[in-house]
Amino acid sequence: MNNASDPQYADKLAQIALRLKSHAGSIIVAAHEDPDGDALGSVLGLTRALQSLGLDAVPVGVPPKYLEYLPQVGELTSSLEVLPEGALLVALDSAEVTRVIGVPMDQTGIPIINIDHHGSNPRFGEIALVSPDKAATAIMVKDLIAALGVKLTAEIAAPLLTGVITDTGFFRNSNANGEVLRSAADLVEAGASMVAINEALGITTRNSFKLQSEVYATIAYDLGGKVISAFVNDAILERVGCTWEEVESLVSHLRSAEGTLLAVLYKDYGDKVKVSMRSKASVSAQNIAVALGGGGHVPAAGATVQGNLEEAKRLLLQQAQLELTRVGAL
Ligand code: AMP
Ligand code: MN
Ligand code: MN
Repeated sequence: MNNASDPQYADKLAQIALRLKSHAGSIIVAAHEDPDGDALGSVLGLTRALQSLGLDAVPVGVPPKYLEYLPQVGELTSSLEVLPEGALLVALDSAEVTRVIGVPMDQTGIPIINIDHHGSNPRFGEIALVSPDKAATAIMVKDLIAALGVKLTAEIAAPLLTGVITDTGFFRNSNANGEVLRSAADLVEAGASMVAINEALGITTRNSFKLQSEVYATIAYDLGGKVISAFVNDAILERVGCTWEEVESLVSHLRSAEGTLLAVLYKDYGDKVKVSMRSKASVSAQNIAVALGGGGHVPAAGATVQGNLEEAKRLLLQQAQLELTRVGAL
């Protein structure tokens, strides 16, 4: 893991801009599996900017229900069976090349431009621009669009603002720094509507309320009340009529728990448990995730544990204890 910012940030942006502008074939723009607002927002923002230059950019992805407002009808290709001859791939917000979704990566040696803000990113690809100091990949895409010489429009700015909003927890997480607020201001001035995005992201369906009540009923506190956790499984989802993608926002609600430094949501799939974490103050959710074989950022990270819920809890609390001890909280 390398959380240092990329020292060649501006140079690499210029290099990437040149590479994209001089590419004759298709430019596939894709992001990580289970795409979030930053992944899809970055894909759509960059694609629209490239298309405005007359480039053949192809955005790939399938939005979860809460992000269905982002793409226009028919704009996204859900997945590519075959890569067009001479294509170039831009992988956005993807901590590992294996997390890129919708592209048959095993078929070719397609050249890759890797733009991401996860410290655990192994810097794969022909050009890797990885800057963990950036709160969202969408901010890096905004900088790239400036390097491309494309003026921000409302259509480009709106998905990018969605990425900035979602990756900073609505500007509440520790990564919501001055650059985030300045970038958001630029995006709003370009025509992105904060109100429209907040409305769209803030919708709670009837079944989501039922889901919340079931998940909150599983809440437990550990390590002297510093860690709050809850779980969700197929049985709960079936009872309330929700799908896994509707679970995503719950962990950020848990994060508001009084007196806690770490919020954990266990997504229990039976044979494996996906752990979603949000941390406060100097506690690093990333350290815990990395120790469990996952990754992410300091305030928001995740991992997949092979095994049952009890095993996942045991392993997580072990690592949480080490991390809370490291920061002097225990
Ligand atoms: P989530 O809790 O799913 O919203 O994820 C929080 C952050 O951790 C995101 O930036 C994810 O990309 C990252 N993350 C989640 N799960 C994993 C994983 N298994 N491996 C690497 N990064 C992950
Ligand atoms: Mn993401
Ligand atoms: Mn991101």
